[in-house]
Amino acid sequence: MPPRARSAWTKTLGLLALILLGALAAGLLIGQAWPVLTAAALGVVAWHYWRLRRVLLRLTSRQRIPPADGNGVWNELDRLLHRSQDDTRSRKRRLVEMLRAYRAAAAALPDAVIVLERNSQRVQWFNEASSGLLGLQYPGDLGASLGDRLRPLPIAHWLASGRHAEPLLDVPSPLDPAMRLSMRLIPYSEELWLLVARDVSKIMHLEQVRRDFVANVSHELRTPLTVVHGYLDMLDPTEQPEWAPILEEMRRQSQRMTQLVEDLLTLSRLEAQDTISDESVGMGSMLATLKREAEALSQGRHTVTIDDRAALDLWGSTRELHSAFSNLVANAVRYTPAGGSIVIRFARADGGVALSVTDSGYGIPAAHLPRITERFYRVSTSRSRELGGTGLGLAIVKHVLQLHQARLEIESEVGRGSTFTCHFSADRAHPRDGDNIGAGRERTHKQSIG
Ligand code: ADP
Repeated sequence: MPPRARSAWTKTLGLLALILLGALAAGLLIGQAWPVLTAAALGVVAWHYWRLRRVLLRLTSRQRIPPADGNGVWNELDRLLHRSQDDTRSRKRRLVEMLRAYRAAAAALPDAVIVLERNSQRVQWFNEASSGLLGLQYPGDLGASLGDRLRPLPIAHWLASGRHAEPLLDVPSPLDPAMRLSMRLIPYSEELWLLVARDVSKIMHLEQVRRDFVANVSHELRTPLTVVHGYLDMLDPTEQPEWAPILEEMRRQSQRMTQLVEDLLTLSRLEAQDTISDESVGMGSMLATLKREAEALSQGRHTVTIDDRAALDLWGSTRELHSAFSNLVANAVRYTPAGGSIVIRFARADGGVALSVTDSGYGIPAAHLPRITERFYRVSTSRSRELGGTGLGLAIVKHVLQLHQARLEIESEVGRGSTFTCHFSADRAHPRDGDNIGAGRERTHKQSIG
């Protein structure tokens, strides 16, 4: 027991003893010892009950207990209760101040921040920016279901699907379709979600400017390159034999630039698309074309094998899929030394269907794999350039596959070779009905390029 409480107890017990002794002495004096003692004891008990009642009343009516300055247990209890009430008050004040500061910070954010109930999607709180970006009104929209409030928009669909792991990129704002938003849903407790929406119009605009710039530059370069290429072809090295190696190098470089421009234009075209024409892609003839191309590139240095096991065709764009697959095949030829083998396989896999290109070439160190599909990312720049690579092949593959809701998987071992696999979902495949490239039913798939 702390010393203060101990001394209060001693004083209270001492006072009790004093009262009882006094009562006993007075009782003995008047010859009525027991009645006086009993009356004194009852008086003490009554006083204690009265103090107990007072504390109880003050606590139940949430009254503030005044600081006591006397001795004894009751005063000590009053003092302790007063102190604990003080502590609670100042803690509450601090918490309220902290909460205010957090809310002020969240309110000052340029991004819309909305606290949502997880199941009902009811809005519990939102900051000022939510009004400017999503059109929420205070206080009318408090308690409203955000899904209902934003119903015609893809946001509502995204909220309903609960796929919070995937952010929603580049959606129109309900206030102004020209304003583009990116949204994230963050589950931060069992019951609550945080929805954060950011205005990405400027970033999207800059991205569009960049795309247009690349597309325009590539387009503008095409004509002069064709002219240079044409004149180079007209020059006959036999007329000036000492110029022959220079002419050969100039032809090689202009060929490389032409290929670079073509690849940049292909990428620009793919980036500008968010839907893909959906025709039946005859995989029999596709595989035969890929084999022919591989053999032409290889010029007998590799063995090229086709392993066609699926007996399926694909829905998609023949032109774009051919561009993706032939990039993989060209890479296999390019990065496999003479004498190596290349296998192009089309088979059912993972509940869908997959086209894979396996080579027995140089392979790719694991550290490079995460970035290998970025534009101009190369494991060895000199080797890629020497072998005629543009650094854009795998970026094209990635874009084409995204447009087909497919994914690229790369397995590679340095010195042993690589396998690049394009996985398509089952609804992209259909039974083979002859090689009807370009024919077939029209289907439409929508996919935004992320
Ligand atoms: P590039 O035109 O340089 O081949 P890509 O985008 O097609 O550009 O490929 C990027 C890089 O990935 C290449 O520079 C090369 O280093 C590596 N790579 C691609 N395919 C293969 C492969 N089959 N074997 C080994 N390395 C490869």
